[in-house]
Amino acid sequence: MSSLRYLALQEMASEEKKVAHYGGKRITSMFASNVFTGRAMREYLSDEAYKSLMNSAKSGTKIDRKMADQVAAGMKAWAEERGVTHFTHWFQPLTGTTAEKHDSFFTIKSDGTAIEIFDGDALIQQEPDASSFPNGGIRATFEARGYTAWDPSSPAFIMEAGHGKTLCIPTIFIAYNGESLDYKAPLLKSIAALDKAAVDVCHYFDKNVSKITTTLGWEQEYFVVDESLANARPDLVMCGRTLVGHSPAKGQQLEDHYFGSIPDRVYEFMQDFEQESYKLGIPLRTRHNEVAPCQFECAPIFEEANIAVDHNSLLMDVMNKVAKRHKLKVLLHEKPFAGVNGSGKHNNWSLATDTGVNLLAPGKTPRTNLMFLTFFVNAIKAVHDHADLMRAAIASANNDHRLGANEAPPAIISVYIGKYLTEVLDEIETRVKDKFSEQDEVILKLDIHKQIPELLMDNTDRNRTSPFAFTGNKFEFRAVGSSANCGSPMTVLNTIMAQSLKNFKREVDALIEKGEKKEIALMHVLRKYIAESKKIRFEGDNYSEAWAEEAKKRGLNNFKTTPEALDAFVTDAAKKVFFDNGIYSERELEARHEILLEDYVKKVQIEARILGYIATNHVLPAAVNYQNVLVENIKGLKEVGLGESSYKAQLNLAKVISGHIQNINDNVEAMIEARKKANNVDDMHKRAAMYCNDVKTYFDKIRYHADKLELLVDDKTWPLPKYRELLYLR
Ligand code: ADP
Ligand code: MG
Repeated sequence: MSSLRYLALQEMASEEKKVAHYGGKRITSMFASNVFTGRAMREYLSDEAYKSLMNSAKSGTKIDRKMADQVAAGMKAWAEERGVTHFTHWFQPLTGTTAEKHDSFFTIKSDGTAIEIFDGDALIQQEPDASSFPNGGIRATFEARGYTAWDPSSPAFIMEAGHGKTLCIPTIFIAYNGESLDYKAPLLKSIAALDKAAVDVCHYFDKNVSKITTTLGWEQEYFVVDESLANARPDLVMCGRTLVGHSPAKGQQLEDHYFGSIPDRVYEFMQDFEQESYKLGIPLRTRHNEVAPCQFECAPIFEEANIAVDHNSLLMDVMNKVAKRHKLKVLLHEKPFAGVNGSGKHNNWSLATDTGVNLLAPGKTPRTNLMFLTFFVNAIKAVHDHADLMRAAIASANNDHRLGANEAPPAIISVYIGKYLTEVLDEIETRVKDKFSEQDEVILKLDIHKQIPELLMDNTDRNRTSPFAFTGNKFEFRAVGSSANCGSPMTVLNTIMAQSLKNFKREVDALIEKGEKKEIALMHVLRKYIAESKKIRFEGDNYSEAWAEEAKKRGLNNFKTTPEALDAFVTDAAKKVFFDNGIYSERELEARHEILLEDYVKKVQIEARILGYIATNHVLPAAVNYQNVLVENIKGLKEVGLGESSYKAQLNLAKVISGHIQNINDNVEAMIEARKKANNVDDMHKRAAMYCNDVKTYFDKIRYHADKLELLVDDKTWPLPKYRELLYLR
């Protein structure tokens, strides 16, 4: 009898491997060829339309209807020359994936003539039939209209799928009354809020700065497995992670994968998705193996945050599509395999001025150093004041498996800045006294810049465990999950930074009004912030038990699960900081909270169903069949007159199997009961807590027995591809 697993293994072995190398092509020759770039705009738009579009992209102002018609016509001409037949508004609803609804350019006029058209209306706004997107009660059915609205700051692009080509217009997604229903709208608001607050503070140092850009460089971790094997596992197909599976004899203990040579098959896949990404203008730069077997990472050159977020969403989509061509499956889940490292998505974050200065890069002169210190200290203060929001921003059912396990940053938010900058901050804190003397300016003369090599060395060996680390010229938010939309952490980070800078300016201005010299006033408030935010700074090992205890003493929260972490979104403090910065109204925040809880419930619910199904329909039958073989064998041995000693082991094995069968059966039943109870609770917060604390507790119990059976049952008849096959066969 051949199991589905054996068929999958055979299929994998017989697959023809797809070749997809660069073939001598330069990356520059394909880069952004499918993007309506500034250069394409220049070519396809009138001067007037071009200027108006550029202006609105920069300033965020609306484009008027007449101009929109012109832009749409230019875009259509550009796209049609490249074989495009359809267009779509491309958006990022709170489902976590991207959404598209394709319309053709084709239409029929009243007199029956068929034409192809794309006008300003279609470009600017669409009303997707969107009542089935998460909305947290914002859109009752009677007001179920949702709109997508063009974001001119992110360029349109052509998505190729199979042989079809579609013009994609990046859009925000909002309810009829303007309330946001996606990741992009709040992100854009947070970028604008931070721009304003940071420019104001920048003016203490440089009056020429008129715009501050948030920069984001993400690093995407992912697993790649064979598609046939993945398809033979309902858990991978439906949940993106394995719910059962015994760890292989060889895990990552040999540490032979990290930065090792990339397996050929994956290498072809990488080259393929890289080329697709380049066409879309995603500036990928690095690729390498990650620590776990079959785990890899890619990262682009950093970009303006809105575009970087779009590009990350696009990349995830492209990877999924391209993997199919190679008969591979990409797992973006935060924890696809128990006992094996999970996947994250580091978010490298900084601020850049329109004069070309990275505000988180230490300066060369006392003046630029003071500017650096100002933004650096404000970032620490922001995280200190709103650490719980940072935790909430990265909370998801998937990421719960990672945070707090001994591999990823813990659920406790802290900031790592390295030895040298710690000394600098300590010095400011102790040497700058309440009564300020001009001599304190000496501190500003610290040549931070010269210490950079030391700083970087200091960072490379120690910050691996920190959830939020300063890495020389940017902060790296390392607790973000691999499948997450970066819009969520970026929105929080920008908002709290904007708030911190606003507070800072108010305090500095108050001192200046009292007659204090500007530099002295700045140093004074910095010193205050350094002292106030001290407890969020941690330089040690974030994985250690000692840190969990120490953090508790310091009063830092350690929210291990999503339902508790998400509560931070609806506190008075959260409502105030989001409202004051124009990001979310109270209602939007509550809706978002509800949506995220619901998402959590659905994910755990689906996993519980699939686990129940796998246990009952795959694991138990395999166990029973094998037990029957044993029983037949025992019977036969008895029949031919061999004594008990000849079938003692078989008998014992059959008993052990019975025990596991019973345990699985009982736990699956209990899990179903717990689920039913939770489903009867209307309050989403309570329901999520029940899924977290009641339903989920059965996962490990069921798994334990299923994994034991995997070790006992005849390999030939075990139905689910095993870890060693998923992780080591190429
Ligand atoms: P590496 O760590 O590989 O030596 P970097 O420190 O330059 O290289 O970059 C690591 C990641 O940080 C990259 O993904 C990069 O895009 C990103 N990054 C670098 N500088 C910035 C910045 N100013 N703002 C945002 N992200 C950045
Ligand atoms: Mg990194």
